[in-house]
Amino acid sequence: EITSVPLALLRAADFAARKHRDQRRKDPVQTPYINHPLGVALLLAESGVEDVATLQAAVLHDTVEDTDTSLEEIEREFGTLVRRIVDECTDDKALPKAERKRLQIVNAPHKSNQAKHVKLADKLYNLRDLQHATPNGWTPERVHEYFVWARKVTDGCRGVNASIEQQLDTIYAQVLGHV
Ligand code: NDP
Ligand code: ZN
Repeated sequence: EITSVPLALLRAADFAARKHRDQRRKDPVQTPYINHPLGVALLLAESGVEDVATLQAAVLHDTVEDTDTSLEEIEREFGTLVRRIVDECTDDKALPKAERKRLQIVNAPHKSNQAKHVKLADKLYNLRDLQHATPNGWTPERVHEYFVWARKVTDGCRGVNASIEQQLDTIYAQVLGHV
């Protein structure tokens, strides 16, 4: 059993770093993938989140969707609560991409408070990435579509973290205009 907060968080960081070790982000400089889940957890901590399971789930949120990690493995290493939050943040990869994107919008309002936190910070991090640099091969239209879609997902997650939501609103105002 994990007995301290630092140990709990570092176990999650170490696990995610090993799982994502061969992956890179889509930005032109091919940033190591692990920067993203660590940055998502950092955004939450900086916004005042102290719930350890939420921060662990943020660190682990893309391991099941994007690596060979199973939910059973997450449960074995980090317990049932972290497993549930990660599960809530994992798309069903058996579905077509467009359907997965539609379901994120439809399902967001029904997620737990903890999963909403992770999803808000995940989108904030990705939108900041897109503001910083356009992924290789993406047209301006595709970038714009991503902002429009992300706004629909985060609108369904609102009401849990005023700081993150304010930071998202600032970006949406910059990119989409005041609407
Ligand atoms: P996505 O549009 O889903 O790619 C965005 C995802 O990539 C993010 O959610 C993020 O997910 C991850 N990511 C990695 N690096 C970055 C980065 N630097 N900045 C932002 N996000 C990053 O890509 P897909 O290839 O999955 O495309 C699926 C959808 O894209 C299709 O359903 C279609 O609608 C649309 N599309 C549009 C095109 C167009 O020209 N308009 C062309 C092709 C597709 P995570 O948090 O999991 O890392
Ligand atoms: Zn992510």
